[in-house]
Amino acid sequence: MANTGYYHTLVQSLPEGIQLVAVSKTYPPEAIMQLYQLGQRSFGENRVQELLTKRSLLPDDIHWHLIGHLQTNKVKQVAPFVHLIHGVDSMRLAREINKEAARCQRTIPILLQVHIALEETKFGFAPAELMNALPELSALPDVELWGLMGMATFTEDTQRVRTEFRSLKTLFDTIGNTYGEKLPSFRHLSMGMSSDYPVAIEEGATIVRVGSLLFGKREYNTAG
Ligand SMILES: *Cc1c(COP(=O)(O)O)cnc(C)c1O
Repeated sequence: MANTGYYHTLVQSLPEGIQLVAVSKTYPPEAIMQLYQLGQRSFGENRVQELLTKRSLLPDDIHWHLIGHLQTNKVKQVAPFVHLIHGVDSMRLAREINKEAARCQRTIPILLQVHIALEETKFGFAPAELMNALPELSALPDVELWGLMGMATFTEDTQRVRTEFRSLKTLFDTIGNTYGEKLPSFRHLSMGMSSDYPVAIEEGATIVRVGSLLFGKREYNTAG
């Protein structure tokens, strides 16, 4: 079950203006409810089917964040309600979200995922690729570009992690300065998870995505 003691400590330690997304992937609805009852409303999931199941069982005023890699053919299922899609990592996915948003007659907030880690496996735009894509991305009428998201290398080397977060913040500032007027909602930097969120906050995160510190060790074999 959720670690409510840690939840209080974490929430109280977050600087003003920093939003916590409680990453509930693989954890049961009961654990989500425990944090909900303490006032938490933003939860993050990375699998569409799991998200839909939990949503059907939980209160309507939860803000659901989609945090993982999203396949284009699944956009349709989350488009009507998703609060923020963190992992937009291709032009093709952005176009699909734009299309489904129009179909639902809403705008969908997104974050562009940037590849900042050493690992090959982490999704995201390369910084230069992102700069090239921005003219088209910023012109999509039915998505709202809220900012950037990134994951640092999984390492004990805090300096490495810090450098990666700092590079993402630099890119974020560059885009904000270049496109500021065209992108009025471009204000968010989603970086930092259980292992590295304090560093991410020091480097300018506005959203942290914390799971295992709040819910305990994850059991991937039940994730489906
Ligand atoms: C699982 C996950 C998290 C949370 O990870 P923890 O280590 O449990 O805090 C954050 N962001 C993304 C994209 C994830 O997939």
